[in-house]
Amino acid sequence: MKTLKIAIQKSGRLNEKSVELLKNCGLNFENYKSSLISPVSNFPLEILFLRDDDIPEYVQDGIADMGIVGENVIQETEVQVSYLQKLGFGRCSLKIAIPNTEHYTSLSDLNGKSIATTYPVKLGKFLRSHGIESEIRTISGSVEISPGLGLADAICDLVSTGGTLKSNGLRPYADVMSSEAVLIGRKGSENEELIKELIQRVQSVLRAKETKYVVLNAPKDNLEAITNLLPGVKSPSVVPLAEEGWVAVHTVIPERDFWDRISQLKQAGAQGIVVMPIEKIIL
Ligand code: ATP
Ligand code: ZN
Repeated sequence: MKTLKIAIQKSGRLNEKSVELLKNCGLNFENYKSSLISPVSNFPLEILFLRDDDIPEYVQDGIADMGIVGENVIQETEVQVSYLQKLGFGRCSLKIAIPNTEHYTSLSDLNGKSIATTYPVKLGKFLRSHGIESEIRTISGSVEISPGLGLADAICDLVSTGGTLKSNGLRPYADVMSSEAVLIGRKGSENEELIKELIQRVQSVLRAKETKYVVLNAPKDNLEAITNLLPGVKSPSVVPLAEEGWVAVHTVIPERDFWDRISQLKQAGAQGIVVMPIEKIIL
């Protein structure tokens, strides 16, 4: 059987979550920091550990069948790959930021200004689409210090909390794109059986992450009010308790709905509420 290859970041912001996702998919492999390639013992797959910038091209050229990388990197390298699944981590935005001391009022204030970035392709497209002509200064790192050093008037860089901008006397000015980690594959690879199976495993892990298994005790008389507050994957299971007039309700619900409903559940008489993580949900 053919052995697939998946490329993930060797070290950096996406490494840990990528490894965790693959392990949660039931894939068994050693995560040696020193190795470039790690075989999976229970699936025909090898993990390649690479710099994130190289991943889109490796996938496009078929050196790897799949990859996990930020959308920002894919768009910057302009490769032809298939988006297989958004992964919900590595969220950030590519933003133009300006010094706090500047009082620009519209995007056109960037005309004639210099902008330092490691994302010249994406920034260039953004500026052209808004009819702005700025000078793009492509640099390889530490973009946020360039206005302070007098190297550029503004920057275009990835931002998640905004802390780095703040500590460099900058403020966000315009959003160029938002990004998260995605699973990509060679064009057309989404129709291959083994890749389909991996996508399904990834999806079942993602679904499980957003959902919790909830067990609570309810007085039988209030059962309807309580189950109305708990829309399950299907319908909740109701199990009689040894104590007369009480039942246990088991259900699976999105975590965000649950926290909103706790006080209503308690008011309706729910007791002993237990919330448990779910490993996988296979539909
Ligand atoms: P490599 O050594 O693999 O080239 P890198 O230094 O280019 O690593 P990291 O800083 O580890 O990259 O970021 C990897 C990805 O994490 C980014 O491309 C982006 O998709 C995502 N990310 C999430 N939040 C941030 C952030 N605040 N700053 C930078 N990247 C972020
Ligand atoms: Zn990189």
